[in-house]
Amino acid sequence: MAPIPAALLLLVGFGFFLYTMSFRIRPLLFARADNRIDNPEERTVRLLEFGFGQKRMPSKPEKVAGLAHIMIFAAFIVAQLGTMTSFGLAFDAHFVMPIFNEGTAIGRAYFAAKDIIFLFGTLGALTFLFFRLTKSKERMTLSWEGTFILCMLCGVMWTDLLINVADIAERSELSKMNDFIAYASSFPVSAMLAMPLEGRGISPQFFHGLMTVGVLLHVAIVLAFLNFLPLGKHFHIITGLPTVFFQRLTPQGRLSKLDLENSEKFGVAKLNDLSWKEVLDTYSCTECGRCQTYCPTYVTGKPLSHKEVNRAIRAHATEVSKQMPLPIATLWDSLKREVVGTPNIGTQTIDAGGAAGATASGLQLSAEMIEKLPPLVGEGGVLPDETVWACTTCGWCEQACPVFIEQLPRIVDMRRNLVLMESRFPDEAARVFKNLENQGNPWGMGSNRRGEWCADLDVPTAASLKEAGKDFEYLFFVGCAGSFDDRQKKVSRALVKILKAANVSFCILGEEETCTGDAARRLGNEYLFQSLAQANVEMFNGYGVKKVITQCPHCFNTIAKEYPEFGGNFTVLHHSEVIAQLVADGKLKPGQVKLEDEVTYHDSCYLARHNGITEAPRQTLVSLGLKVKEMDRSRTETFCCGAGGGRMWLEEKLGQRVNQNRVEEAAATLDGKGTVATACPFCLTMIKDGINETGRGEQMNAKDIAELVAMGLPD
Ligand code: SF4
Ligand code: SF4
Repeated sequence: MAPIPAALLLLVGFGFFLYTMSFRIRPLLFARADNRIDNPEERTVRLLEFGFGQKRMPSKPEKVAGLAHIMIFAAFIVAQLGTMTSFGLAFDAHFVMPIFNEGTAIGRAYFAAKDIIFLFGTLGALTFLFFRLTKSKERMTLSWEGTFILCMLCGVMWTDLLINVADIAERSELSKMNDFIAYASSFPVSAMLAMPLEGRGISPQFFHGLMTVGVLLHVAIVLAFLNFLPLGKHFHIITGLPTVFFQRLTPQGRLSKLDLENSEKFGVAKLNDLSWKEVLDTYSCTECGRCQTYCPTYVTGKPLSHKEVNRAIRAHATEVSKQMPLPIATLWDSLKREVVGTPNIGTQTIDAGGAAGATASGLQLSAEMIEKLPPLVGEGGVLPDETVWACTTCGWCEQACPVFIEQLPRIVDMRRNLVLMESRFPDEAARVFKNLENQGNPWGMGSNRRGEWCADLDVPTAASLKEAGKDFEYLFFVGCAGSFDDRQKKVSRALVKILKAANVSFCILGEEETCTGDAARRLGNEYLFQSLAQANVEMFNGYGVKKVITQCPHCFNTIAKEYPEFGGNFTVLHHSEVIAQLVADGKLKPGQVKLEDEVTYHDSCYLARHNGITEAPRQTLVSLGLKVKEMDRSRTETFCCGAGGGRMWLEEKLGQRVNQNRVEEAAATLDGKGTVATACPFCLTMIKDGINETGRGEQMNAKDIAELVAMGLPD
């Protein structure tokens, strides 16, 4: 059709694309190895469900934007075959794709679907243009880039339609059929657009020329579009689906276990310490800002946004890639180089699955270049310290992200480097570490006082039962707050009352219990976590523990999801599940509880989001005759209380306090008066404090669900 201009366009277009891509690939080649090709069946299913199926797109609170994106995505996918056809047409006016042509039923169905999907794609693009022009989505990055890409997408779709319209009109004129209806079943939209051209005496040659223009325009727009992608956030159009495929498959809420014995370096200090998947993640961030919507730190004005972290690291990788050697030259060099000893030791986790120090490509950056790389965190680095310490590890950002970008492991790995390699962490964290080391609890209370809360309750310990030759079914793991915090001790006592009322066979560890290590791990002190975890697992196994009840979602998460890596495999139940089951089985029959005002339930992130337990606490409240008024941010879309990720122990100096933000929502839900039910010691403390800090102590209160159930039991 126009082979010379088309060949030139292709040569220049693909040449530039390869040149730009070589810079994007370099940081990936020198990044840490990480095995993400295990379990290909599950990965494929997830790719179909969340990648091609776009399942996360229309989720709360972004239903309209999600649907608009699905329409654009569908148009983009069906456009691919049309684009390939256009490339063929550029060289041969009679080119047809094998199978996907008008001569086959599948081809005709494809053309018909493409025509209609392009209309919806245009509608989706217009919706996003509306969001951009009216600035109605605060979460989105509103640069010219997004508007430009939307226009390009429309260009791709409408030049494709133009080719069809010109083709139909030319064929019609040549056959003198003037019957556009004949084309309607294969090209419903194009045929309709071609209809007004009927009988106007326009020559077939004109339509042929128009088709050539359409083909060249289409090829030019596609190539310009392709070259634009690696330069910014729209690189996700190329990397998004691979990122979904390579997503983490380990349980949500579980952090990786560091190999403390065989590594010399821990955590992430510089760009080359990130895994190739973590670098790919930054390329795939669409800057949609969904991760910010319910992020407790972002919403309350702290310097942390998952989106901005990705942007900063991506910009850094782009900058650094200019100094990285060309992959081809380096690959060639590596073939000639003699390997002496073990390569540089990088951050290694058992989950990573690679040999210590291995990079994604097997190539290493020179020691000189690594030395020159700025740190990722701290002065002269990519992110300020405050960003890394602000995260509560609530998991909202990961749950909201349509391309499954992983934030928690990266943040914790940065903390691990600061704590274990640089000894740089907030003073409050230092106190917590010391208290955990010395007394096995964050308050630093004497470990021998751990069982004092139930001295008058006749609660058996595992040791006493063993001595008496008696067995038990459940170990009630009380936790640090349940043992030492005056407010939470009341919840522990309420739970004992419940378990006794239902004749549950249980015991506690008493003085032999120690902290699970959740806060130490999430604050980056993996060494301390592992020693605490090891001690608890040995104790549990020593007493033959099979089932564990926790009243703390953080203990629950750690024992259930992280202790198996230390040889601790137990059935772990949160007290909300135990209570709901006892009531359902008729073993516990609490009376109806009368409260003066209404009740709302605050979901803990580590219970609802990380572990999916949302209904058991509600069922319990309903069984007491209470009607639960739901907050807008509830169940797995809950809003953190501000205490997770070790933040319970750190000062909150910047922005609004997270607990106050949550209490305001609860107050609005309860019309200013009522009870906030909780099922987590940290949440209880934060909500109680938030109520007092906002001057609502007279009208509102916070209670654990166990306390409410105990109110319904006889004394
Ligand atoms: S991290 Fe995910 S949710 Fe956040 S802006 Fe990037 S793509 Fe969107
Ligand atoms: S885990 Fe929670 S606090 Fe941390 S960045 Fe994500 S949404 Fe924000």
